[in-house]
Amino acid sequence: MTYAVKEMFLTLQGEGMQAGSRAVFLRFAGCNLWSGREQDRAAAQCRFCDTDFVGTDGAGGGKFVGADVLADRVAAVWGAGTEQRLVVVTGGEPMLQLDDALVSALHDRRFRVAIESNGTLPVTPSVDWICVSPKAGTAVVQRSGNELKLVWPQPGIDPALLETWDFQHFLLQPMDCDERQQALDAAIALAMERPRWRLSLQAHKVVGLA
Ligand code: SF4
Repeated sequence: MTYAVKEMFLTLQGEGMQAGSRAVFLRFAGCNLWSGREQDRAAAQCRFCDTDFVGTDGAGGGKFVGADVLADRVAAVWGAGTEQRLVVVTGGEPMLQLDDALVSALHDRRFRVAIESNGTLPVTPSVDWICVSPKAGTAVVQRSGNELKLVWPQPGIDPALLETWDFQHFLLQPMDCDERQQALDAAIALAMERPRWRLSLQAHKVVGLA
């Protein structure tokens, strides 16, 4: 398998229950809900994306032939030490490319493997931490995991319905848009109304990390 990687870098996880943890971010190229081209945004299934996942030209990106080659590169980005190794596999939609061979190769190098997925493809069961961020109007098949991250507000999504899914943590992330304050107010209002949900801010943007 040849993996197409947009970028790969060492940082602190900025979102969710593992926020603040040192992690290698492995961003795969491509998504099944948007081409990534601005001219296609209006017709896309997901229209609020703020991530560049097109191509393999980012820092640390490229095409990697074989799981061991890519896992070796992830380990090199982490550097010395095997304690608390964490790789966050994201995209785009990482389940277009992540497979058991790569998860196994990362486990061999003592990494815990976390994924951030839109949930429209089943996540390989060997992944250690599953974060699903559902998008309105899409068919989510991955309805279990560790954290459900709902970008809010999103017309067409019913938080009460999502609460029936099998997740440990239910997180509300205000949409990063021109109406940022209104999105924050809406997320706070929902968390006050439905205590199952917890407000979750994007700490990496607050502190200026990638
Ligand atoms: S599903 Fe995620 S990566 Fe794909 S277009 Fe939407 S926000 Fe971007």
